[in-house]
Amino acid sequence: MLEGLLSKEECAHCRLCCSFDSYGLWDTPVITPGMKEKVLRAKPGQRFVSRGDTLLLRMEREEQEDLYYCPLLDRSRGCIMGDGKPFDCRIWPFRVMNFLGRRVITLSPLCPAVAEKPVEQIRKKCGEIAPAVFKEAREHPEYVRAYEEGFPIFAADTEEE
Ligand code: SF4
Repeated sequence: MLEGLLSKEECAHCRLCCSFDSYGLWDTPVITPGMKEKVLRAKPGQRFVSRGDTLLLRMEREEQEDLYYCPLLDRSRGCIMGDGKPFDCRIWPFRVMNFLGRRVITLSPLCPAVAEKPVEQIRKKCGEIAPAVFKEAREHPEYVRAYEEGFPIFAADTEEE
């Protein structure tokens, strides 16, 4: 989805978005029931944890480190979900958040590759994907996270929540 902003090579070299510390576990991908079936086809036996009405992937902490790798990450080949990744991973480092009752697209400050890009390039890509991203977020309110301080806003939905 982010062709033209992030290359596959940049993401393959980094994969920071597939690992989390205990403070970042809120940002692990939301798994819908349809996505759960796809995950179980790709990785039979994968376990999930409930978060409100939806699910997250159960992650195991690395020994002696405050670090959790996504269980769908193959450390040599990358994400085993290929093009069928969860919504959050398809739009990373963008995020959909609720800011004062309105859906907005924000940018995670954690992505080192995007941090190097000109802001105009980021704004252009956000404008291109915003209609599809907001459409999917309207259909799946569980994708919309509470606003986090430090996430700059790049677009606002014209429809209220
Ligand atoms: S589902 Fe794939 S892209 Fe998303 S965090 Fe896990 S390994 Fe990374």
